Amino acid sequence: MTALAYDVALAPEPADRRAHGATPAGGEAWALLEASGALAMWVDAQGRILEATETTADLLVYPLDYLRGASLLDLVALESRERVAQMLNGCAHDGAARRERVRMAGGIGGPDWIDLRVSQHTASNGARTLLLFGHDITDWVESQRELTERAFLDPLTGVGNRAYIRKRIEEYTSGQRLAQPGNAAGQGFALALMDLDGFKNINDSLGHEFGDALLKEVGARLQDTVRTRHSVARLGGDEFVLLLDGLASEADAVRILERVIHVCRQPFLLGGCHVRITTSIGLAYSAGAPQSESQWLRRADLAMYEAKALGKNRYCVYTSELDRRLDEQFRIEQSMFEAVQNGEFLLHYQPIVWPDSGKICAVEALMRWEHAGEAIRPDIFIPVAEKNGLIKHLGAWALRCACAQLAAWDAQGIHVGHMSVNVSAVQFLHPNFFDSVRAAIQDAGIGADRLVLEITESVLMTDPKAAEQLLLSLRALGIRFAVDDFGTGYSSLSYLRRFPLSALKVDRSFVADMIDSPHARTIVSAVLSLARELGLVAIAEGVETEAQGDLLAAQGCDLVQGWRYARALSPADFENSVLDGTLVMGQGEVFTQRVAA
Ligand code: C2E
Ligand code: CA
Ligand code: CA
Repeated sequence: MTALAYDVALAPEPADRRAHGATPAGGEAWALLEASGALAMWVDAQGRILEATETTADLLVYPLDYLRGASLLDLVALESRERVAQMLNGCAHDGAARRERVRMAGGIGGPDWIDLRVSQHTASNGARTLLLFGHDITDWVESQRELTERAFLDPLTGVGNRAYIRKRIEEYTSGQRLAQPGNAAGQGFALALMDLDGFKNINDSLGHEFGDALLKEVGARLQDTVRTRHSVARLGGDEFVLLLDGLASEADAVRILERVIHVCRQPFLLGGCHVRITTSIGLAYSAGAPQSESQWLRRADLAMYEAKALGKNRYCVYTSELDRRLDEQFRIEQSMFEAVQNGEFLLHYQPIVWPDSGKICAVEALMRWEHAGEAIRPDIFIPVAEKNGLIKHLGAWALRCACAQLAAWDAQGIHVGHMSVNVSAVQFLHPNFFDSVRAAIQDAGIGADRLVLEITESVLMTDPKAAEQLLLSLRALGIRFAVDDFGTGYSSLSYLRRFPLSALKVDRSFVADMIDSPHARTIVSAVLSLARELGLVAIAEGVETEAQGDLLAAQGCDLVQGWRYARALSPADFENSVLDGTLVMGQGEVFTQRVAA
């Protein structure tokens, strides 16, 4: 029995159950009820307790005298009161038994939860009462709650898991959350998906234990950083999600992300070492009720993908424009695989000419993709092919095709001095590159000295040592290199000496501006004299006007290329132009005219 003082004077008069004439049980049945250990009482339709067992009084930790005449509703927690009242009313009204899981009013120490059943009893004299029977289910409810909580927790970091995020988003989509008082600041809702940059490296170099420790620490930092109303979860691996609500605007969410990025950038102490990481975050924001969970994650994922593509260590916000662009990229990527099989890729050839005569010295092979009657520009599809790896196949194919074309023209008596082929960074760094170049020349049966590979400065600077080795071994075969888009990259002059290069291509942007801008003119003439100094052939690209061509010729540019002379042509158009005299083949070889300084 409870040790708490209890004011007996306040207790109602004990009711004589026999006097009620409504007692549903005889002496033996009553004893059975006492023995069951369960709650057993009978009440009227309003919940006034007419009688209860001793066991019930013990269970509820109230004196039996108090229970008699008290209202059942007063013993029930506020949140359950209405349902209990309805249950009693309903049963009194239609006589059908009912059952509810009821939370009891806390306080003196009885059970928190009772599984309560009610049924109607009609006494021999016709009086009706309600019989209540209940079990203590506190332990069961607690363990259920614990299980549920665990089902929503990431065991490693202690933050929420994917199921938790799903549940939270569902609460918003169903509107359950929006009306809550915590959301007074605003109705804005955002989902931020974040990924640790280079986490795999840490796992690989320091081991999984340290990787796990890092994830734990990141989880803890995130929880400290976002206010408690916002939720943190880990989706798996090194992917975390922040669910931000009650935002006044997108800028609110961005402020939180900036804090997150800052906090994650602080060094982590792992096994005595300071480890630094950065994060890439994608944000999906909505001013009103959010859409489905999958849509949210997809949007945040697209934005995160973009943040990574832009160089990591940053956040990106989802926009429908981003969606459209990525969708286009996706469609391009999908059709690209088929396009390779369907032979939708072709090479066109743009003449590279002597500036004084306009006669052809060489051609540059430029890739074309004709898809469903539409030409997709290389600026669009080459970056996609670089990302999905297809560039290795496309690049190798372009090399073979261009070399074979040169041989075919030789056979037709159209002598093109050399063939220039563009090489992307991904292709260049691939271990098979050397072999694919050698095979292309051998299969076509052309001299290696008639192939020029156009590479950009960034290709050389990614891994200068490896680049140098590769250039040297290809140069040993006789192959030459031109630096494409010169002037737009790193342009460290020392590397120009270091690599075995043969030509510089002055970027189109300088040529375009050289007539109007003295600044561009200075750059062009500087590049031309640099080329002369280093014994490199200078080629200006994107020459569109006579004035540009004349100026370049006057400044001693070796070769020019651009629409002023000819566009990139299909092999048939090229041949026809040569045959009808529109294009004239030049004499002489540009590289033999230059002697390296
Ligand atoms: P790039 O290597 O700088 O090629 C020159 C680009 O300038 C070509 O664009 C060419 O059509 C264009 N062009 C030529 N003359 C003029 C002119 O007078 N005015 C203007 N405005 N443009 C001119 P295209 O064919 O669209 O190629 C774009 C880029 O795609 C190329 O730039 C190159 O980086 C890449 N690319 C093309 N084919 C291949 C390829 O087979 N492999 C690789 N890796 N990249 C390629
Ligand atoms: Ca080029
Ligand atoms: Ca170029």
